[in-house]
Amino acid sequence: MGIHAEPGEREVTADALRDAFRAVYGTDPEGVWAAPGRVNLIGEHTDYNDGFVMPFALPHTTIAAVSRRDDGLLRLHSASGDVDGAVVELYVGELHPDAPAQGWAAYPAAVFWALRDAGHAVGGADIHYESTVPTGAGLSSSAALEVVTALALNDLYDLGLEGWRLARLCQRAENVYVGAPTGIMDQTASACCTAGHALFLDTRDLSQRQIPVDLAAQGLRLLVVDTQVKHAHSEGEYGKRRAGCEAAADALEVDALRDVPFEGLDDALARLDDEELVRLTRHVVTEDHRVEQVARLAGDGDFRALGPVLTEGHASLRDDFRISCPELDLVVSAANDSGALGSRMTGGGFGGSAIVLVEDAAAHKVEEAVLAAFASAGFRTPRVFSAVPSEGARRLA
Ligand code: ADP
Ligand code: MG
Repeated sequence: MGIHAEPGEREVTADALRDAFRAVYGTDPEGVWAAPGRVNLIGEHTDYNDGFVMPFALPHTTIAAVSRRDDGLLRLHSASGDVDGAVVELYVGELHPDAPAQGWAAYPAAVFWALRDAGHAVGGADIHYESTVPTGAGLSSSAALEVVTALALNDLYDLGLEGWRLARLCQRAENVYVGAPTGIMDQTASACCTAGHALFLDTRDLSQRQIPVDLAAQGLRLLVVDTQVKHAHSEGEYGKRRAGCEAAADALEVDALRDVPFEGLDDALARLDDEELVRLTRHVVTEDHRVEQVARLAGDGDFRALGPVLTEGHASLRDDFRISCPELDLVVSAANDSGALGSRMTGGGFGGSAIVLVEDAAAHKVEEAVLAAFASAGFRTPRVFSAVPSEGARRLA
């Protein structure tokens, strides 16, 4: 079975993964699993405020060939670009967040730790990974890496855990072991999305709705523009926003900003005397409202009407949450000025990717306009592809 790759990139198949596993470890793997990256249609920085998000899975996946070991040794190897190609060796019994594995291996090691810490009898393993998910592009390569690992262990050790539960364990792995304070969206998207749908997720109770999104049938397309920019200190800024949201919820005497009703926003803002908390609250509450709007419009099949909501979301992230950057702002202005229906940054911010909703007929012109704007600003050439809602995590072989 073939895994979609960008035109010009190699196609990754389960057979190719088996061959690569054999070349690294000298034996056949017990199985091959895949988990996708995601793009978030709307609902940014709402997932740690108990709010709503609406991501869908990309065709880009991280694939793992895996065998169990009975000696407690965990061997990890990845063929992806920014790792050095060495096999990392760890003992599962020694994994602990106080002394996490270094570099990329922290992500899969974290999943072993989280499963074992939750009482699941998971032993050692040999794993080889390949991926077509761009890393550090705001498309959740980290969640794909975690979820593919968790799904393989779930199957091999017959743990019987549902997708949402695997996602929770992966989030705990990333929060506690890797030390990245991310919300629950990325892992749930990778684990639970289905082809042809966006996932409406209530991050408070993890209830989900699969919402059909067939843009092609409407003559529309969603472009993903990977700016290939990753700004330093973005994790510290993420932590600050998160802490600010918690402070605002405390000041407003609610469990989380999700509890501030959109209709009561002005009253709530009037009760805050800190301008920073006002901005953070305004973003989260209006963003939750936008997710509900987008879900309703998508449910009605009115996809063109999504455009302005996406653009409003960008303005809120830029002006109130202040996590955009010149490259992301330029994608949005160049795309919208050249005929896109709407656009916004997607993912955690400070770089990464933007999404652009566009009529099929205008897609080429809009892409050219974005590329030209980047060239004249002296920015690195972005990578542009169109995204179709694709399958979530699954076993391939
Ligand atoms: P994003 O999730 O937006 O891609 P992150 O910074 O959260 O960005 O995660 C990227 C990191 O995840 C990479 O720097 C690398 O350490 C790790 N990673 C993701 N995919 C792979 C892979 N296939 N092989 C090795 N490491 C990976
Ligand atoms: Mg990530």
